Amino acid sequence: MTLRIPDIAPAIAEDCLSPETCGALAWHRQQIAALERQVASDCLTGLWNRAHFDRLLEAELDRSRRYRQPISLILFDIDHFKRVNDVHGHQAGDAVLRELALAAQSALRASDELFRWGGEEFAILAPSTGHRGAHRIAEALRLRVADVSFPAVGRLTISAGVAEHLDAESGNAWFRRADAMLYAAKHGGRNQVRTDARGNSDAWAEAQGPAALHLVWQESYECGEPDIDAEHRELFELANALIDASLAADDRAGDAAHAFDRLLEHVALHFAHEEALLAQHGFARLDAHRCAHAGLLRRAQELRQEWQKGAEGLGAIVEFLAGDVVARHLFKADREFFPLFIAGFPGKPEIAG
Ligand code: GH3
Ligand code: MG
Ligand code: MG
Repeated sequence: MTLRIPDIAPAIAEDCLSPETCGALAWHRQQIAALERQVASDCLTGLWNRAHFDRLLEAELDRSRRYRQPISLILFDIDHFKRVNDVHGHQAGDAVLRELALAAQSALRASDELFRWGGEEFAILAPSTGHRGAHRIAEALRLRVADVSFPAVGRLTISAGVAEHLDAESGNAWFRRADAMLYAAKHGGRNQVRTDARGNSDAWAEAQGPAALHLVWQESYECGEPDIDAEHRELFELANALIDASLAADDRAGDAAHAFDRLLEHVALHFAHEEALLAQHGFARLDAHRCAHAGLLRRAQELRQEWQKGAEGLGAIVEFLAGDVVARHLFKADREFFPLFIAGFPGKPEIAG
């Protein structure tokens, strides 16, 4: 059912058609879309069915390769479902499958696709998600299901297996890996998630190394005042030196501590110098800018102390440098004074007095 009207009539220019023909074409399109939806759906639960899973799997794999984004597969299966049928009857079993489909759907993000893969087995394709994220999704789902009281049946549990797609792995091999994890979850006692902790996302991060964390200087950060630009560039270099030093060793007294102190010293001097230059040029928002500098310095000094005690790690430092210093201060607050130095920069030039 992949034949669509746009495929068989790509060249029809609708403005050449009569209103009646346009109406009929729209009606046929709707009918075909409804049929396609019906063929791809499971009639008991309304979820996507296995045939649609097979089609979408290949398309999502192509997308993941093209954009170098991870993709994960979650398989889950109701524990001891046969007992539900045996004790409460097949119709009660059917009602459970419908309820479970609703509960699972409501626990997922819009980008995750949920399928009924077989009898009481379900699959989730989670695009742009590595094995860690997929594990969290599966675990949240397991807890959500354990929390539902199924009418006439009561509590049920599920077991789940998770695998992130690996480079050059076929769709079948990937599915088998997730299935092996599901099998392990069943044999481990059910009501649990087992995840294969391998993934492309780790390989991609490893291939990039520390460079992935570096701050990258952009020409658009230049304000046109040579001293300020040179000091901003040096700030980037010192920040990257701190990231490298703290990745190289977890020793908070050695090179990393020295790198942190050099960065702080540079930032304090640079802020003072920038404020003096802005005062000379009569920057009208100097007080607000001084305040922003003082806040950043305070936070940097706090971070330095927390990091020394071991209360904060590299993650907090990178977040502060990339988020607070670059994205919010350099890329936003600093731009307010760019018109002082770059003729024609969008914004009103500040006039002294
Ligand atoms: P486990 O914890 O190992 O998964 O045990 P289980 O009992 O859930 O698994 P088993 O594979 O032994 O049994 C699955 C049952 O699911 C048997 C089958 O009759 C039932 N089933 C499959 N499809 C449907 C359906 O559409 N409706 C109902 N009511 N039952 C179904
Ligand atoms: Mg089962
Ligand atoms: Mg089963």
